[in-house]
Amino acid sequence: MDQMDTSDVSVTSTPEPKVRRGFDQKVFVNRSLTLENIKCYGFDMDYTMAMYKSPDYESLGFELIRDRMVSVGYPHELLRYTYDPSFPTRGLVIDTTYGNLLKVDSNGNILICSHGFSFLKGEDIQAYYPNKFIQRGNTDRYYILNTLFNLSETYLYTCLVDFFTRCTRYTNLPTGYQHGDLFMSYRSMFQDVRDAMDFIHDTGTLKERTIKNLDKYVVKDPNLTVLLNRIKEVAKVFLATNSDYNYTEAIMKYLLESNIKTGKPKKSWRSFFDLVVVDTRKPLFFAEGTVLRQVDTDTGKLRIGTYTGDLAHGTVYSGGSSDIVCDLLKVKGMDILYVGDHIFGDILKSKKRQGWKTFLVVPELTKELQVWEDKKNLFEELKHLDIFLADLYKHMDSGSKECPDISTIQMRMNVLTYRMDMSYGQMGSLLRSGSRQTLFASQLMRYADLYSSTCLNLLHYPFNYLFIAPPVLMPHEAMSQNSAEFASSDLALKNNIVTMNRN
Ligand code: IMP
Ligand code: MG
Repeated sequence: MDQMDTSDVSVTSTPEPKVRRGFDQKVFVNRSLTLENIKCYGFDMDYTMAMYKSPDYESLGFELIRDRMVSVGYPHELLRYTYDPSFPTRGLVIDTTYGNLLKVDSNGNILICSHGFSFLKGEDIQAYYPNKFIQRGNTDRYYILNTLFNLSETYLYTCLVDFFTRCTRYTNLPTGYQHGDLFMSYRSMFQDVRDAMDFIHDTGTLKERTIKNLDKYVVKDPNLTVLLNRIKEVAKVFLATNSDYNYTEAIMKYLLESNIKTGKPKKSWRSFFDLVVVDTRKPLFFAEGTVLRQVDTDTGKLRIGTYTGDLAHGTVYSGGSSDIVCDLLKVKGMDILYVGDHIFGDILKSKKRQGWKTFLVVPELTKELQVWEDKKNLFEELKHLDIFLADLYKHMDSGSKECPDISTIQMRMNVLTYRMDMSYGQMGSLLRSGSRQTLFASQLMRYADLYSSTCLNLLHYPFNYLFIAPPVLMPHEAMSQNSAEFASSDLALKNNIVTMNRN
């Protein structure tokens, strides 16, 4: 992963104490950004300011939707399943026609495919998808599990497919299961899981359980108050969350008020922000939005009528849109850095529709970096095999008749990819499969100017920092660099391949 800032590089002549940020403290850069130009910082709440403890929180979500499925009529045997955090990865796609779980690249090429807990091999994948490709724009059929909230749903759907496929009472058909004169399609099962998910969120079941046991489910870090206090000295700050007021109040109070030392006058969590907007309904918020209303913070109820006044400090608003936020705060979209965890609802939409600067929070990055560091040798070998393959064909032209046997190399590449994937979890990395990047990775690179495992890593940079994106070379530009690199490793690699062929 080469999207790294230049924080370790000192370019001044005066010797200054070198700042050394550990990998897990870094903010990574896709597009250069001058922090000094940011006049306003916006924050999402869930999974951004409020970090949920994994896997306890996903387990809770899983148990609530599993129980809901049973209460609407699904078999009691499902209660035997418990959440396994090593299985799902964010960003997977459910094919609601065949009940498969897919990991795809940015073009929809399939990288991994599972049916329940069975992983399909090349020819089985091709039987379902002749070109090993899906038209992911077909949102009627394919559903992308983009958020960390979706992890429990990804796992529950897998459990359902596993259960019905193995249960002798049900007959397996291409698009679902038959039980007597009842047909249950993969599509209807998916819809039932979605409905269960909406149910636990919309009825407040999940929120109630979270609030009852905040220590178990929510990470409390005193650095959040430090960060917000520091930002407030240099820029405006707002909170824009899809959560309702009562939940936001409970979570933000826990995060920002319970850290304040006794003896000091109590500071309301709301005073950390210039503007608080709840019920934002992102991604709609970044388009036409909804009616802006005031929240009565004593009762949590919405005041009737549309709010048309100026920004009133300490007031909480509900609904609205990104345009209204800019008007109230008197800032332009390009001066805002919005920090969120939802690649689509927070990042893609705010960038594409409003031109905001974006910071994606990727909590999985801590583990991704750790595995990357531990298994770097596997990726290096994979990269060299790629170059070696290219070299085999380099001296051929349209008149060449020879056909190099590359099967051993391909086999080795598959083994390396599998070993790399397994180091992350059963569905592999969030960002890659072997040397190929996932759809999530491509969206991250395209829409997030900055990304990091937590928003708290902003603490490690001064507010006039220049985040510089590493230059990305196109293949024709990288060519000369590659050949130089290859020349030095050529001999060692050839020796390796000879050994591999012997084995
Ligand atoms: P934010 O990340 O702070 O904008 O808030 C996310 C909100 O979306 C939380 O209130 C969640 O309960 C809610 N949410 C997340 N996933 C779902 C879903 O699948 N259905 C309904 N609400 C959801
Ligand atoms: Mg969020």
